[in-house]
Amino acid sequence: MQQVPEKMILNLKREFPLLEQLVKTEPTFWENTKLRPSAPAFPLLPLSQKDIADASARLKRFAPFIQQCFPMTDAANGIIESPIRQIPHFQGRLGRENQIEIPGRLLLKCDNELPISGSIKARGGIYEVLKYAEKVGLQSGLLTTDRCYSCLVEPAFKAEFSRHHIVVGSTGNLGLSIGIIGAALGFNVTVHMSADARDWKKCLLRSKGVEVIEYEEDYSKAVEEGRKQASGQKNSHFVDDENSTDLFLGYSVAAERLKTQLFQANIKVDAEHPLFVYLPCGVGGGPGGVAFGLKQQFGDHVHCFFAEPTHSPCMLLGMYTGLHDQISVQDLGIDNITCADGLAVGRASGFVGKVMEPLLSGIYSVEDRELYHLLAWLKDEEDIALEPSALAGAPGVVRLLKEGRGYLEKNGLQGKLNNAIHLIWATGGSMVPDDEYASYYHQGKNE
Ligand SMILES: *Cc1c(COP(=O)(O)O)cnc(C)c1O
Repeated sequence: MQQVPEKMILNLKREFPLLEQLVKTEPTFWENTKLRPSAPAFPLLPLSQKDIADASARLKRFAPFIQQCFPMTDAANGIIESPIRQIPHFQGRLGRENQIEIPGRLLLKCDNELPISGSIKARGGIYEVLKYAEKVGLQSGLLTTDRCYSCLVEPAFKAEFSRHHIVVGSTGNLGLSIGIIGAALGFNVTVHMSADARDWKKCLLRSKGVEVIEYEEDYSKAVEEGRKQASGQKNSHFVDDENSTDLFLGYSVAAERLKTQLFQANIKVDAEHPLFVYLPCGVGGGPGGVAFGLKQQFGDHVHCFFAEPTHSPCMLLGMYTGLHDQISVQDLGIDNITCADGLAVGRASGFVGKVMEPLLSGIYSVEDRELYHLLAWLKDEEDIALEPSALAGAPGVVRLLKEGRGYLEKNGLQGKLNNAIHLIWATGGSMVPDDEYASYYHQGKNE
């Protein structure tokens, strides 16, 4: 992709004053002025509730296969889902450390506990591979949509899938999800890994027979090489993290499930009980898909914020300037180097940024140092272990209360904060090896 010329950068800085802070990698809070009431916004978007319902139904068709293949999903009958938890001790700690009273209720959505791959990628990534498997199965004549999909474990399917190749570029977790489910079905899988990817993720994939190709460059390069490899190849499917509507829809199914969980926990969401959701953002598909689903479920009663590392604020940059994927953080001299490997993306998805334009409330950026602190506090207060990326949503409520007063006032929310629900989307962590986690925790305690 072309680099944005120096002169244009100067003009951008003049037009968009927050860029000065962003370039200095200082924590930034941006309110999206293009947010619109959701009802009139929906018909203008390229995807709808019908598309989410289609994805949801497909995941139900595959549940018997998932249950058979992955016994850890037995209790949930093959549905890959995570619990929500109240975290009152962390809420207290967060308030004390930031010298602020946090009214309302703080919840954690524990995608770190998602079965099979232990991160939010177990939603979109697995869904896209299942959808491709269904297509191949139907085309081969081996599968019909009225059969029980547990038949996919049969050797005839493995033989058919082994003639197909799935390719993906990733900073780690997407590759992990695609590799594990792809190998379980019998596909050949190649994962192109950026420099950020942790060694244990590469080892785990190789142990499952997945081909891992490593790069010294960042995420964009890994995706580009993956796309190049898959293009024009017969029986080849490229999981395009930057543009895929399948990934996006796989993530979006989370929202209807969350609605049921909140209902079962007797937690109301309506005009008097606003729901604020804080989602860690890399290229955008995960948080975008979830937020899109949430707006469909809760309309204007839900307020979605994305969170990015101060060194990788690609979605903030793209949405704020309106340039989306036409600009990268490197164009501004920002290095895209962060401990939050799942969020180490320099150029956001243009597709996601445009869909989010009327739906997203805002984006803030967080320093690595703070991610480590939050990691240790969550461990100390609630005994929950997350990876650094997964903590980006954790300070969202503090940032909103301190820097989002304009947003709260404009939307008539100031008087409703005692009834508010703040939901931190914890996006990963359960597969991190103990020694690796211990070193994260150590940093959080000592820095
Ligand atoms: C991938 C990832 C995200 C963000 O998802 P994107 O689709 O890249 O925006 C957040 N947290 C973790 C742990 C991830 O692996």
